[in-house]
Amino acid sequence: MFSDYMNIRRQPVPMLPLDRRTGVTEVEAGYDEAAAMREARRCLRCWINTVFEGNEPDGSQCILCGGCVDVCPEKCIQLVPLESIEFPPEVVNHLETSPSLFRVELDDVAAEELGVITGSAMLKDETRCIRCGLCAERCPVGVITMEAYAMRPMEAR
Ligand code: SF4
Ligand code: SF4
Repeated sequence: MFSDYMNIRRQPVPMLPLDRRTGVTEVEAGYDEAAAMREARRCLRCWINTVFEGNEPDGSQCILCGGCVDVCPEKCIQLVPLESIEFPPEVVNHLETSPSLFRVELDDVAAEELGVITGSAMLKDETRCIRCGLCAERCPVGVITMEAYAMRPMEAR
């Protein structure tokens, strides 16, 4: 955390002057780089992240409605056909020999079936997610929740 971060004031968003606002003109001009960096220093580092987890018994299994994909303002979620994902032999082998990595989300699929079976996969680009929580709000079956967790440093894994 930056020292004294609790006293860093919110950066006002530059706005178009009133006399230049016409019709549907966008009025928020956005931060320049320096202001954006100052604003980013106010981050409280809550470590809130999306968690995708559902199961059939409690009725919270993903129904592939695509709502989370549609609502995401950063376009960081995609639903893609499994056939479009390549599983090279070394990946399949790694999964077969690392049970802790496998059978987490793909309960009914054996590693050797990857690349053969049909279905859908949800991909998320964590580097673009702004943790807004809209996908969790939108999900009609409660598959997505926003939960806090901290990443362990690489050396501690
Ligand atoms: S939290 Fe917001 S930005 Fe992140 S995946 Fe969900 S909708 Fe997209
Ligand atoms: S909104 Fe929920 S049910 Fe719909 S595709 Fe996303 S995770 Fe699945």
